[in-house]
Amino acid sequence: MTMSSDEAYPISRGMAPAFHGPLLAWFARHRRDLPWRRRRTAYRVWVSENMLQQTRIDQAMPYFHRFMAQFPTLAALAGAERQAVLKVWEGLGYYSRAVRMQETARYLMRERGGRFPRTYEGLLALPGIGPYSAAAIASLAFGLDHAVLDGNVIRVMARVLALPEVTDLPRTRRGLQATLDRLLPRGRAGEFNEAIMELGALVCLPARPDCGSCPLAQVCRGRAEGEPTRYPVRKAKKKLPHRHVGAGVIIDDRGRVLIARRHEDDMLGGMWEFPGGGVEEGETLPECIRRELKEELDLDVRVGPHLVTVRHTFSHFRMDLHAYWVRVTGGRPRALGCDGWKWVPRDKLDAFPFPKADQKILAAVRAAGPWPAF
Ligand code: SF4
Repeated sequence: MTMSSDEAYPISRGMAPAFHGPLLAWFARHRRDLPWRRRRTAYRVWVSENMLQQTRIDQAMPYFHRFMAQFPTLAALAGAERQAVLKVWEGLGYYSRAVRMQETARYLMRERGGRFPRTYEGLLALPGIGPYSAAAIASLAFGLDHAVLDGNVIRVMARVLALPEVTDLPRTRRGLQATLDRLLPRGRAGEFNEAIMELGALVCLPARPDCGSCPLAQVCRGRAEGEPTRYPVRKAKKKLPHRHVGAGVIIDDRGRVLIARRHEDDMLGGMWEFPGGGVEEGETLPECIRRELKEELDLDVRVGPHLVTVRHTFSHFRMDLHAYWVRVTGGRPRALGCDGWKWVPRDKLDAFPFPKADQKILAAVRAAGPWPAF
């Protein structure tokens, strides 16, 4: 079992068969034909689950196809250029996850002959693989009895159990994991895990659960109470801080743009960006950009007209990213506050991996037509 069964929430004796019987029958009828469900291997499960932890299935599908076309095996991923991995991941967010995946692939090639361990504990012991991925690979690729607990599963279970406890707490998660491990039909964990995730994605929707067509309607306490959307109970969200950031689209007379690569250890590490940084108190945006470009690249610059302001929300703050046209007036670029820099012809910028907010600046650069004189 994945977790201690002492932590499980109470379930009635008849609940297990009344739970998984209808659920698995429903899944047999409604199971979607998804690319990672074909030709299932540990590698394909691992890649798809990493993508699905942060994006919806329909959004993940083209990424999965591109990723598999470029890195069809663990060896291909391990041997790839970091930039190529980030480029394929571009737009999915949480870029550190792509970096970690490549590190894990390299570790597996180096230390384990390119094979995933075939036990939950062995998987969990790998660098870069947490309980969720370990349970997904163990159950979906190797048929081992481990329940997977993702956002969809948490919602379904919180409603079925009418769970009054806050589901963001580790204690509650442990309780849900232990309950699921108890409910699991032995030998069919992979199918069970997928069925409950699919139910969360198709029927037990966050705002409008379709209880009328739900196979768990008979056992669902949330539905019996009449207000299933009360669950899952969540911690009150803190208001996210709001930051203003200035960025320079540095251009030259040869039609090139200067871009900078972020340090590997920073947020969005390894990605390219239009250089800049946070506005300090009392600073105007042009002042901020001048200071940042001096600190980051040792450049003296003239800040020209405003190009675009992009809004973006990260998990821990909101950002208004204000991009201005910039020209260099003195100095040669030096990577003082970044990992590297490059002058890139405008039609070659697409070859570099940019975070989402910078991609919007890039779109504005493309749409701008002739570059301004200033
Ligand atoms: Fe969700 Fe309704 Fe099904 Fe309960 S009965 S699991 S609330 S869809």
